[in-house]
Amino acid sequence: MIEGYHRLSRQAQLELLSEVTGVGVATLAKLPIDAVRQQQIENYLTDFRVPEGIAVNFKVNGREHVVPMVTEEPSVIAAASNGAKLVCQAGGFQAHSKRLMRGQLLMNTKTSIEVSQWVVDHQKHLLEVANAAHPSMQKRGGGALKIMPRPLSATQLSVDLLVDTKEAMGANTINTMLEALKTEFEMEGIAVEMAILSNLADQALTTVTCTIPETVIDSAVAQKIADASEFAQIDPYRAATHNKGIMNGIDAVVMATGNDWRAIESGAHAFAARDGQYRGLSTWQIVDQQLQGQLVVPLPVATVGGSIGINEQAQLNLELLQIDSANQLAEVIGAVGLAQNLAALKAIVTEGIQHGHMRLQAKSLLLEHGLPATKLNEAVPRLLKEPRIDSAHAQKIIEQMRKKDLDE
Ligand code: NDP
Repeated sequence: MIEGYHRLSRQAQLELLSEVTGVGVATLAKLPIDAVRQQQIENYLTDFRVPEGIAVNFKVNGREHVVPMVTEEPSVIAAASNGAKLVCQAGGFQAHSKRLMRGQLLMNTKTSIEVSQWVVDHQKHLLEVANAAHPSMQKRGGGALKIMPRPLSATQLSVDLLVDTKEAMGANTINTMLEALKTEFEMEGIAVEMAILSNLADQALTTVTCTIPETVIDSAVAQKIADASEFAQIDPYRAATHNKGIMNGIDAVVMATGNDWRAIESGAHAFAARDGQYRGLSTWQIVDQQLQGQLVVPLPVATVGGSIGINEQAQLNLELLQIDSANQLAEVIGAVGLAQNLAALKAIVTEGIQHGHMRLQAKSLLLEHGLPATKLNEAVPRLLKEPRIDSAHAQKIIEQMRKKDLDE
């Protein structure tokens, strides 16, 4: 048990960390510190670095975008760019997005019907209370728009507040509004157990579609992609992996833009299970001999708020994306998810997913086992010729190259 860690000076924190982990103080003291991020979280140690790359060929609603992606997974950016290239050759993605966030007042009540009626009767006043708690959101054309009761059981009720949060994700805005409403309910003698945003943002959906003709994708492959997407609709085991591929793309841009990827993840998966069975978020079908893809996913991403404003890299990435609004950002992110899905399905139903991954896997293995990055050009083709691409063969090649260097 460690008590009061957050109250210690940095030096005292490092000494305690060294004592409990055995990692030397000198090693810990060498870790770089960023003055801003040091203030951003509690018990800051250092920055954890993840590579950022650029996916290309994205055309969304007629506009071309390059897309910064933050990911540790080697094949993600290549796959996104490949999927986007196919769609670009077919005219690009069409996308639209809307933004209403939901907050909940959750209560146990034996008078659920009466409370529901009271909410309906006092809607206008309750919306005024919510908007008065954060008036600037209404001033910029958004704010609390709807409040409605939603019975959960005979004795449990959710009163849902829908808020247009404009360019923000709106978690803090909505929670502030909900807490003001909680006080209002309690003045009426209605006890509220919880006042909190819901991450199942089913009123902040982004829909992305694309249509790919036979001239761009072979009809047999297109049919296989459509068949593969059907498995994700009927089998949750397949759906989870199908959606993981989509989130490979979505999360990487959500991270690059300083957005809250846990919120996006929880919303996406809850939405995927909205009818009681977990299903693929995208579907592919053959219509008029063309492959049509559609992705529908909640994407309440923001261009302001949270830590976006203090994250210089997120600011630069938003500039690189050349988007005008949070909704447009969501549309590009949705397109990345669908492109990623297309590339993954195409690989799985043709040469298999490992084929494209092999070169990248070889690189990662060699680096992991200590090969200097400058030697990769020589080492990767050698590892690819081995019977298996695994640690033992990577180590063997590194050893052979070391010996050769010593001999020369
Ligand atoms: P902030 O609290 O930072 O609020 C964003 C603020 O930006 C707005 O309240 C508004 O303040 C200001 N703003 C300036 N320009 C605009 C504009 N054009 N449109 C909208 N707002 C604008 O962030 P959020 O409320 O968006 O909350 C997101 C943060 O909350 C994230 O860090 C997230 O991780 C965290 N969070 C998430 C939860 C969850 O997902 N369950 C729960 C709790 C927190 P003003 O009107 O005063 O100018």
